[in-house]
Amino acid sequence: MHDDLLNKIDHDYTVKKLEEMIAIPSVVKEEKELAYYLQGELESLGFETELHEVEPGRPNIYGWLKGAKPGKRLNFNGHMDTVPVVSGWDTDPFKPVKKDGKIYGLGSNDMKGGIACTLSMLKAFADSGHQFKGELSFSGVIDEEAYGEGAKAMLKTDWSKVDAILLGEPSQGTKENPTALGITGKVLYDIYVHGVAAHGFSPEAGVNAVEQAGIILANLHKLKIAKRDGFKGNYSTLKIEGGYKVYSVVVPAECRFEVNRLTVPGETVESVIKDMENLIAS
Ligand SMILES: [Zn+2]
Repeated sequence: MHDDLLNKIDHDYTVKKLEEMIAIPSVVKEEKELAYYLQGELESLGFETELHEVEPGRPNIYGWLKGAKPGKRLNFNGHMDTVPVVSGWDTDPFKPVKKDGKIYGLGSNDMKGGIACTLSMLKAFADSGHQFKGELSFSGVIDEEAYGEGAKAMLKTDWSKVDAILLGEPSQGTKENPTALGITGKVLYDIYVHGVAAHGFSPEAGVNAVEQAGIILANLHKLKIAKRDGFKGNYSTLKIEGGYKVYSVVVPAECRFEVNRLTVPGETVESVIKDMENLIAS
């Protein structure tokens, strides 16, 4: 059955699905149109489907194909959202461009490519007519590039009871072992630095919150980023804000910054919060 299914994979279909999905903008918070598209695709493959409204206008999509007899449940998962459009694009990010054997477009890699491969595999399976036990399903979730609300909502439903979930994310695993067991976690540090305001002509009378934040940021490389084969632990400062709203010569008393941290199996929310606390205290 394995070889037969591999032979049935239609690469033209995979590419077509990827191009169609790139052309449907699904920047985080605007995943709805892609959810409807995936619902249509899954239904055309003979899957039953359900939209799960996680927030108003922001549904997850679930689709499933039941085997002739009860058995294990296998779910293929993908996040529908992409990051926003940032500067640096030479072409329209929502118009797929084929170049040097690659397809460029927002989300082509992360992770509409993974979803296209999953659809292609599901199509090969559905078209084969192979009898099977159990249930084959797909879940498309919202908000992965933000707070992960789609996956959290999914895990509060019966979908948390599947026997295995396989993600088509591009960033995990190694070349030798591309299917990683597990996935990186994510912690968003939201850090407020409180100083003491003073007139800017007498900075010694205050404590400059922006400069204090700068000292912490310059020392982030001292965070104890754990290493584990096949997983990527790291950190990245995403945002900083502080100081006056209207120009005035005042030593800022407040500053806030956000640092994203990827965690690897073995680390916990508590352990990485402690790590940051230790850094700030040092
Ligand atoms: Zn992703």
